[in-house]
Amino acid sequence: AKESGKNNFKVYDHSMNLKMNKKLDLINNLHRAVEKEEFVLYYQPQVNSLTGEVVGLEALIRWESPEMGIISPAEFIPLAEETGLIIAIGDWVLKAACTQNKAWQNLGYASLPVSVNISALQFQESSFVDKVVKVLKDTELDPRWLHLEITESIAIKDTELTIDILNRLKDIGLKIALDDFGTGFSSLGYLKKFKINVLKIDSSFIRDIGEEDATITKTIIVLGKSLNMEVIAEGVETKEQFNYLKEVGCDKVQGYLFSRPVPPAEIEKMLYIA
Ligand code: C2E
Ligand code: CA
Ligand code: CA
Ligand code: CA
Repeated sequence: AKESGKNNFKVYDHSMNLKMNKKLDLINNLHRAVEKEEFVLYYQPQVNSLTGEVVGLEALIRWESPEMGIISPAEFIPLAEETGLIIAIGDWVLKAACTQNKAWQNLGYASLPVSVNISALQFQESSFVDKVVKVLKDTELDPRWLHLEITESIAIKDTELTIDILNRLKDIGLKIALDDFGTGFSSLGYLKKFKINVLKIDSSFIRDIGEEDATITKTIIVLGKSLNMEVIAEGVETKEQFNYLKEVGCDKVQGYLFSRPVPPAEIEKMLYIA
């Protein structure tokens, strides 16, 4: 053990290089993916707890790399944020989701809001609101059928700027959902100041329901309702979790119990004719 200890530095150094090379490789590939638009959107239904109807869809990006196969956003979104590529990717997502939603409406399906995840960098870009306006105009989608999911980190960073952007988005007529709610806040004061329409309870709290600790989930639901917000639970996997959520008045649910995120053709089987 002592002898190998001497070589620790070298071994460490080598694996660092490998990791770095792999990351640089991935960054190169990601640049090309943006140019070649190697992305697709999957959609996951959001379900009304009481009626079981599909009442919304969340768009979730996948990278279909010719040499690496399907890559999950958990793997490349952080890298896209680090490199700034998230701006181009985010623009693509917004356009693709609105285009798809309008196409479904044109096919005669009952209109549903599609939720799009917006990362902090995108949100804080000075042209963000203008971009949203332009996409809605270009795709001819009514703003009420677009929801934007933002995280608490956005909400807390620059309060004045955030309030201004949220007000402008609200004026357009779309809705804002606070994603991963409960995982990052230090103060709840901003909930009253910000015009947020929907709270999404983070899946970590939903997991706790199965493990007999549902206190936080129940509290978030009461909080959201008292502030006139809609509440969605994400990551609902079991009947037990669903029953509990219904019991405590959670409006909407989303999770593998109902459907995984799936390609548009699969979603169409779940939509209603208008
Ligand atoms: P998120 O916004 O919190 O999305 C929910 C994630 O949970 C999705 O993972 C979804 O597939 C997964 N999920 C849904 N139901 C269940 C369930 O019942 N059990 C479990 N274990 N997981 C469930 P996904 O699609 O891999 O996305 C991961 C994250 O990547 C998202 O988390 C979001 O933060 C980010 N992301 C995805 N698409 C986009 C995008 O277009 N733009 C940006 N900026 N971020 C995105
Ligand atoms: Ca989300
Ligand atoms: Ca989440
Ligand atoms: Ca998230």
